[in-house]
Amino acid sequence: MDAQQGLYVSAEKIHAREVDGRFDRLRSASTILLLGLYYVLPWFTWDDRQAVLFDLPARRFYIFGLTFWPQDFIYMAWLLIIAGVGLFFVTALAGRLWCGYACPQTVWTNAFVWMERLAEGNRSKRIKLDKAPWTAEKILRKGAKQVLWISFALWTGFIFVGYFTPVRELAPEIISFSTGGWETFWILFYSFATYGNAGFMREQVCKYMCPYARFQSAMFDRDSLIVSYDTLRGEPRGSRSRKNGKGGRELGDCIDCTLCVQVCPTGIDIREGLQYECIACAACVDACDSVMDKMGYPRGLVRYTTENALAGNKSRILRPRTAIYGALLLVLLLGLAAALSNRQELRLDVMRDRNALYRELSDGNIENVYTLRLTNKSDRDHQVTLSVSGLPGLIVDDATRRFTVRAGDLTTIAARVHADPDVAPEGGHAISFTVQSENAADITAESKSRFFLPIE
Ligand code: SF4
Ligand code: SF4
Repeated sequence: MDAQQGLYVSAEKIHAREVDGRFDRLRSASTILLLGLYYVLPWFTWDDRQAVLFDLPARRFYIFGLTFWPQDFIYMAWLLIIAGVGLFFVTALAGRLWCGYACPQTVWTNAFVWMERLAEGNRSKRIKLDKAPWTAEKILRKGAKQVLWISFALWTGFIFVGYFTPVRELAPEIISFSTGGWETFWILFYSFATYGNAGFMREQVCKYMCPYARFQSAMFDRDSLIVSYDTLRGEPRGSRSRKNGKGGRELGDCIDCTLCVQVCPTGIDIREGLQYECIACAACVDACDSVMDKMGYPRGLVRYTTENALAGNKSRILRPRTAIYGALLLVLLLGLAAALSNRQELRLDVMRDRNALYRELSDGNIENVYTLRLTNKSDRDHQVTLSVSGLPGLIVDDATRRFTVRAGDLTTIAARVHADPDVAPEGGHAISFTVQSENAADITAESKSRFFLPIE
């Protein structure tokens, strides 16, 4: 009879051993830089406003000096496409470097592991503590870890909401316990997600939840950067002392110390070949290099390399895949830069009054009414002049010929446009509305509509 297996096999907790080396320092630097950016950015001010603020109720995104409106959604879509193509490009070139150094799951897990180490000690102490009965010391150490984790997770949740609600207004509300319902929900939700993902699930998120790990093989080729064990050099592996060396035995350079396995945050043995669990963090590279140094062997038994290089072939950075992704990325980036630099400060939308096609005035002129929505995407007020063209004798009513639209604001006005039926031909005609800023000659906005005159 076949043995029965559950759908879920509970994983044993991985206590990765501490490691020191150049890649570990790079990982620490990247963690500090990225987390620093996340926690500090909302506190910056730009033109008397929070520098980065996604103001959802007002439907405006402020990113440094730029204000984005719902109409600017195209830029967001563009950015997402750039991020997707960028990920393809980096993966084809450098494998899973994103996972090892910059993925939020990795950087927050690093921070949570640092706190765990601070409260519970190094790897062997942590393993011993897990197995030990509940003594006062265990309660104290585990309790301290929980206090650190929960405080950090709550702070993370607070900062997250601070990107959507002005953080300097949110902080006093938190202190006085007067945050609104949604803000409280999202702070707690994001705190819980951080605590759960970085504190408990850790590598399981990468192994079982992250889609990137699953489709990365489609982006890899034999020239993509991977972390690999050099089997030709390392095998047959075998333990030995530094003093006696290989002792005349037919041994490779691997001394089978398993340090590379002990430092691995996903708990795999890189000597078994490339595995989808590998996040290319290079902790095993640092560990093995330190062993090689002690043994007096050359470094690089486990190293960043490519499948072609391992097979003794030349690795190529420039190949059709990287050239296409790179060119596409460049075009998209240049296009976005050009679109942003040519982005118009003013945007005009015109809607015809739906109640009446036209109205005959007492002086015999024909009037059409329009609703104008003028958006000022800039950080300065604009005094504008409205004009209309496309038909002889067309004039805008005096009341709406000049008006002001405030910085980052939307002004709605009802514009009345008149035409003399003796001059303008009967029927419907395409016309054009133009607003011209009086502050700067090159700042204008235009929108089209139709003007109707009675048909005799
Ligand atoms: S750290 Fe290096 S020497 Fe030690 S088991 Fe791993 S590959 Fe072999
Ligand atoms: S195998 Fe090496 S590079 Fe891959 S996740 Fe483990 S430690 Fe990091």
